[in-house]
Amino acid sequence: MDFLRPPTWADALAAKAEHPDAVPLQGGTDVMVELNFGARRPAALLDLTRIADLAGWDDDGGRIRVGAGVPYARLIDGLGDRLPGLAQAARTVGSPQIRNRGTVGGNLGAASPAGDSHPPLLAAGAVVEAESAARGTRMIPAAEFYTGVKRNALAPDELIRAFWTPPAPGPQYFSKIGTRNAMVIAVCSFAIALHPEERRVGTGIGSAAPTPVRAVAAEEFLSAELDWEGRTPLAVSAAQRFGALVADAAAPIDDVRGTADYRRHALSVMARRTLTWAWNDHAGDSRREAS
Ligand SMILES: Cc1cc2nc3c(=O)[nH]c(=O)nc-3n(C[C@H](O)[C@H](O)[C@H](O)COP(=O)(O)OP(=O)(O)OC[C@H]3O[C@@H](n4cnc5c(N)ncnc54)[C@H](O)[C@@H]3O)c2cc1C
Repeated sequence: MDFLRPPTWADALAAKAEHPDAVPLQGGTDVMVELNFGARRPAALLDLTRIADLAGWDDDGGRIRVGAGVPYARLIDGLGDRLPGLAQAARTVGSPQIRNRGTVGGNLGAASPAGDSHPPLLAAGAVVEAESAARGTRMIPAAEFYTGVKRNALAPDELIRAFWTPPAPGPQYFSKIGTRNAMVIAVCSFAIALHPEERRVGTGIGSAAPTPVRAVAAEEFLSAELDWEGRTPLAVSAAQRFGALVADAAAPIDDVRGTADYRRHALSVMARRTLTWAWNDHAGDSRREAS
């Protein structure tokens, strides 16, 4: 097996163009498990860890561009105030060791339906920056990035350079059900993001369909239902309807972690809870602004 260690991003793109079957390696928390268990024996590994600009972020106030190689632990510390939904999800990933190595770029590369960063990326309306030596940069909305079970929209010669997302314009929450509290793959998960200026709600569902998905009908219902100006308390019936529409958007299976019925039920509960937290925050902000 060849081990390619490009020193720059341009070298990495050139190496990927020359060896399209080379497997990119960032934190290695997915790749090394697959190698160690013999699930994969690639002709080459493409180690991206020498490329310094993958490990930083830029914030121009409008949108934050986060390099594919930023580990979860740094994202939580450095961006938790601006990307609270993603930071909440990052806090649930694995253990401190995994959060020190693992990255959102690697989560996107693996594209597991259970990956924890996907629901908050979908809810926030994030965009993936992919690049190839031959065709340059391609901006792929998260909603179009996941194409099947552990499959994504990348071409064989493309690499993920970064993801873009606005700093949270309103409350964001992530919720995950596991068979225990830590070091656990999601039985199912849910993220909500309020976009008050656009009077819009974003959602993301994890581990309850072949790919991470948005609950589009639930978003549309709630965006029209909420009293964005007056910020009146949430009607119980609206929260229940939202929960039911989120459950309807899932296409879960029965597996060792849970049944399809349980996943649908859990999603409706998580949707109601996260909505209540988010709306209470939004209404609380208005009370603080008024006082
Ligand atoms: C003990 C343990 C616990 C875990 N717990 C969780 C958990 O709770 N939640 C969760 O979501 N995940 C979990 N994982 C899985 C893993 O940690 C995450 O998916 C993590 O985000 C992977 O990031 P990485 O940088 O280590 O990726 P890597 O292993 O380096 O790569 C993952 C995939 O992405 C590809 N890739 C990496 N970088 C790029 C790039 N720049 N461009 C294109 N493709 C790229 C790789 O080729 C590979 O296919 C766990 C793993 C372990 C071993």
